[in-house]
Amino acid sequence: MQHSSKYIEAAVEQMASLPGIGRKTALRLVLSLVKRDESKVQRFANSFIDLKQHIHFCHTCYNLSDQELCSICTDEGRDAAVICVVEDIRDVMAIESTQQYKGRYHELGGRISPMDGIGPSELKLDALKERVLSDEGITELILALSATMEGDTTNFYISRILEGRGIKLSTIARGVGVGTELEYADEITLGRSILDRTPFEVSLGRS
Ligand SMILES: [Zn+2]
Repeated sequence: MQHSSKYIEAAVEQMASLPGIGRKTALRLVLSLVKRDESKVQRFANSFIDLKQHIHFCHTCYNLSDQELCSICTDEGRDAAVICVVEDIRDVMAIESTQQYKGRYHELGGRISPMDGIGPSELKLDALKERVLSDEGITELILALSATMEGDTTNFYISRILEGRGIKLSTIARGVGVGTELEYADEITLGRSILDRTPFEVSLGRS
C-alpha cells in the first residue's frame, strides 16, 4: 500500500504492528487521528508513553500495577491462603468481574507451549514455587488456566513441582468449553466454576 505521505505511511506501519490490526484498519485509524484536534492526539499519544513509564509487574503476583505491589496483594481483606493461578491480567479481570473470588492471584504470563517455544522457564513458575514455599501461608492453588492442551500441560507441570508440599490443588469447574479462553467465559459461568472447583486429581481423569 503506497501512500502520498511518509508521515501517514509511518503511522500506519506503527498502528499495524499491533496484534489484530491489518493495514486497512491501520489506515482507517490513522486517518481518524488526522481529523482530530492536535491536543486530543497529544493526549492519546501521551497515554501510551505514561503506560510504559509507570506500569510495573507486581513483585508478588506479576499482575500489572502502578505500584510495586498491586492493589489485590495489598488488600488485607483478601484471603492470602488461596492463590488463583492464571495466564495474564485478562483472566484476573474476568475473574474479578464475577465478584465470587476473594483470594489472591499469580500470573504466569502464558502457558507452557512447546509448539510456540514457550517452556517453563519463560513463565513465572519458579516464582510461584517460591511463593508457595515462602511464609506467605498459602494452602490452596486454584488452577484457572484455559481448557486447552497447553493449559492442561501447565497444570500438570505445577502439580509436579509442588508434589509433596501439602498444598491443595484444584481446577476451576469446566463449564467453560474446551479451547474457550477464560476471558470470553460469561461472568455467571466463570463465577460458578470457581466456587465449584474440583480437586486437580479428579479433573485429570475427566479431561
Ligand atoms: Zn500482586
